[in-house]
Amino acid sequence: MENIVNNRIKLELLSKGENVSLARITIAAFVSQLNLTLNDLEEIKVAVSEAVSNSIIHGYQNETDKFITIIGTLYTDKVEIEVADNGIGIPNIKIAMEPTFSTDPERMGLGFVFMQSFMDEVRVESKVDYGTKVILSKKINSTKENIAVS
Ligand code: ATP
Ligand code: MG
Repeated sequence: MENIVNNRIKLELLSKGENVSLARITIAAFVSQLNLTLNDLEEIKVAVSEAVSNSIIHGYQNETDKFITIIGTLYTDKVEIEVADNGIGIPNIKIAMEPTFSTDPERMGLGFVFMQSFMDEVRVESKVDYGTKVILSKKINSTKENIAVS
């Protein structure tokens, strides 16, 4: 069941601040094919925003001419959103994901905390100087009504 792909979207967005809301809105429209609760939808939007912001701010160090790839997939029982950059990478993922850890003293270090509390699973793959991929996953009720059919 789990591996059945019902729909998929792939976005390539420039690493510009205004594209955080574009990513959020586009993914929200994509997952709205399912009968998610408004709460679930809001949580997905926040998690996507946090991951895309991290790619821009940390991965690409605010350079605005790089690409972020976002792949959204609807499975029968979950929604998965991958956010990937080819930026500086994360030397220690475990430490980076700890609450309040940030390499920027001006920031709160709470992005991963939000992602983890709003999604069912957050996986991070990263390699220094190659980039980072964050895979956000949320379970959905696989009742007939919320499976996209059209
Ligand atoms: P906040 O999200 O509260 O503004 P933050 O971005 O520093 O602060 P997190 O989102 O939790 O906090 O990320 C923690 C740390 O992980 C960052 O400070 C950064 O060092 C590292 N990091 C996260 N995403 C990336 C990325 N895509 N590329 C490189 N480093 C990253
Ligand atoms: Mg962050």
